[in-house]
Amino acid sequence: MTTIAVIGAGIVGLSVSHALRARGHNVRLVDPEPPGKGTSFGNAGLVANYATAPMASPETLRQLPAMLARSDRSIAIDPGYTPALASFGWRFLRAARPASFARHKADLVHLIDQAIAGQHALLDELGGKRLYRANGCLQVVRDGPCAASALEAMAAAKRADGVACEALGPGDVRGLEPELSAEGLSGALYFPETRSLRDPLSLSRRLYQALEGDGFTHVAARVEVLTPLETGGWRLQAGDIRLDVDRVVLCAGIANNGLLHAQGIRLPVVSERGYHVMLETPLALNRPVGWLTHHFYATPMQEGVRLAGTTEFCPPGKVPNARRWSQLADWGATLFGRPVEVAHEWVGVRHSTPDGLPVIGQVPGHPGLIVAYGHGHLGLTLSAETARLVAGLVAGEQLPEHARALSPQRFLTSLSP
Ligand SMILES: Cc1cc2nc3c(=O)[nH]c(=O)nc-3n(C[C@H](O)[C@H](O)[C@H](O)COP(=O)(O)OP(=O)(O)OC[C@H]3O[C@@H](n4cnc5c(N)ncnc54)[C@H](O)[C@@H]3O)c2cc1C
Repeated sequence: MTTIAVIGAGIVGLSVSHALRARGHNVRLVDPEPPGKGTSFGNAGLVANYATAPMASPETLRQLPAMLARSDRSIAIDPGYTPALASFGWRFLRAARPASFARHKADLVHLIDQAIAGQHALLDELGGKRLYRANGCLQVVRDGPCAASALEAMAAAKRADGVACEALGPGDVRGLEPELSAEGLSGALYFPETRSLRDPLSLSRRLYQALEGDGFTHVAARVEVLTPLETGGWRLQAGDIRLDVDRVVLCAGIANNGLLHAQGIRLPVVSERGYHVMLETPLALNRPVGWLTHHFYATPMQEGVRLAGTTEFCPPGKVPNARRWSQLADWGATLFGRPVEVAHEWVGVRHSTPDGLPVIGQVPGHPGLIVAYGHGHLGLTLSAETARLVAGLVAGEQLPEHARALSPQRFLTSLSP
């Protein structure tokens, strides 16, 4: 029986561990933190079947100067982070060219198509409706008038990607969500098949519970050094603990960068922080509501409504920018047409790639070392599919056709994005 160390107990590492245990492997899950307490704790909870367009697009390039200049700074770049962003930024620009964007988008559409079925099946296996809502989600337009034909064109584009989507007028939107303010509301895209979690931490905990038993150990330590063994396999040094295993899967989020650098591997995966506030204000929301131009969601969760979003390219450990929390609360107040009270605040680190696709694959030149990160805005959505792909790699299979583009090789062999 193969013994595999999975480094990182976020939604990706937990899902990978689950898939490996299901195939009979011994799993050593290594993380100093309890399961699901990293970025996976604070996301917006959407199994985002609609997210079929990578961020690097001709449209983003056109809008970027205006987005960066916006007074609410929904997207920000920390000047102190620019050296780390150099390789990412250059590749992002190339990925945004029309032909590259079309290629990455096609890859993402296929990946999401595979991922949603797997994620839905996993949610049903682990707890069904206790874990998620199946009421779809809305993306509202409320920045001046939006012609019904323009909204319908956006909905048609999503349908062309294989995603169920309807364009709704303001009356229909308020019929679904009476809490939304009518002021400034011009309509919405409605994705009826989107699921959303009642609490992302509950899913992590359910995965962890399903793992407990023979063949599974949680090693509560931070991996500092990885060394290949002459006999094959890897040695992990984590504080006083030394662990010899047959394979290693790196699921430590942005911390994978340091572990890979030590092996001489540099990938253009950067820290893109996001924020959330949990509201104390009671709001009877039936489904997540996003604001199309502001890239944030109001998601009804077990403990209340969570406002989550914003994009901040900055060093992962930098002190949070408190203005972002008040910005989220202000947007919430606009969306609901009344002041909102914040119960608590959170910041987390997305690990993002220039082409908008995760990095999943065997690390070239390092047998037995597999990497799974770079999920950006989609780690929850893609976690079950990531786990399925990693389990295939552990079994010695190649990445399947729809996932070839995810290999780390794409960033190592050439400078094309
Ligand atoms: C505001 C916001 C909203 C989001 N909304 C959504 C959404 O609606 N849908 C969606 O699909 N995605 C969303 N995301 C993205 C999603 O949350 C992430 O992609 C996902 O949580 C990444 O999971 P992970 O397991 O890779 O990382 P993490 O959850 O960060 O887990 C990594 C783990 O590695 C551990 N670790 C680090 N270093 C070491 C080490 N040296 N040794 C051992 N362990 C280590 C950490 O302690 C941590 O537990 C959102 C993200 C943000 C910030």
